[in-house]
Amino acid sequence: MPELPEVETVRKTLHQLALGKEIKSVSIYWENIIKHPRDPEEFQHLLQGQTIRDINRKGKFLIFQLDDIALVSHLRMEGKFGVYDSHEEKPAHTHVIFHFTDGTELRYNDVRKFGTMHAFPKGEEAVNKPLIQLGPDPFDEAFTLNYFHQKLKKTKRNMKAVLLDQSIVAGLGNIYVDEALFRAGVHPERIANTLTLEEAERIRNASIRVILEAIEQGGTTIRSYLNSQGEIGMFQQKLLVYGKQDTNCVNCGTPITKMKVSGRGTHICPQCQPLHTHG
Ligand SMILES: [Zn+2]
Repeated sequence: MPELPEVETVRKTLHQLALGKEIKSVSIYWENIIKHPRDPEEFQHLLQGQTIRDINRKGKFLIFQLDDIALVSHLRMEGKFGVYDSHEEKPAHTHVIFHFTDGTELRYNDVRKFGTMHAFPKGEEAVNKPLIQLGPDPFDEAFTLNYFHQKLKKTKRNMKAVLLDQSIVAGLGNIYVDEALFRAGVHPERIANTLTLEEAERIRNASIRVILEAIEQGGTTIRSYLNSQGEIGMFQQKLLVYGKQDTNCVNCGTPITKMKVSGRGTHICPQCQPLHTHG
């Protein structure tokens, strides 16, 4: 699943390829992708004649800023956007096509069909689901140590679950949560309301560092998210625990172990991330 840095790579690529293009019409082949407005014809009507003025991102959501409309899209497991010439063959699993007036088109491809699109009159996207449910991005000004520590104090969930909760901090998924907790030296099963302010600060700082570094490297893409223009993310080489089970910890040499936490495959160094602190 793409996380914040991968979505940011997609955003930058689409920004280069699709900015300034005017939507002539929209073809919808799988209606369940369209979540708002519920009526696909209304969705098509809203987007017709709109030009892509900017492309933003919040958490793992892409936000296409059109003339009067904001289109919010989540790629979920396997969603991919690509810009093609309209004559290029349409591959299987292409569910939505935005036809541009210049003869090119933006295609949304999704093998799993879990992706979503919400269109709102501009401004309303921020005060409606899904964006209203999102916490700040890790590097947003709103993600202060005080905000984060207050959130931790209010929950008895473990840290893995808390960091995956998009309403607390947006954009972190399985890969970057494991990497951040390792860098912070905190066990993923630690209960949130038992963390000290100092531990919260280590996790906050590590989350910001990991995400910014991953953005710089273009993410950790194993496959390309944009078919023809796909760029491979280089953060793969910077991973210290994710997918590193049975290799030695870079800090202490202890083998990295893989376990299940909150139902998710989780990678830790048992030495650097003790569950019980001995004092
Ligand atoms: Zn270690």
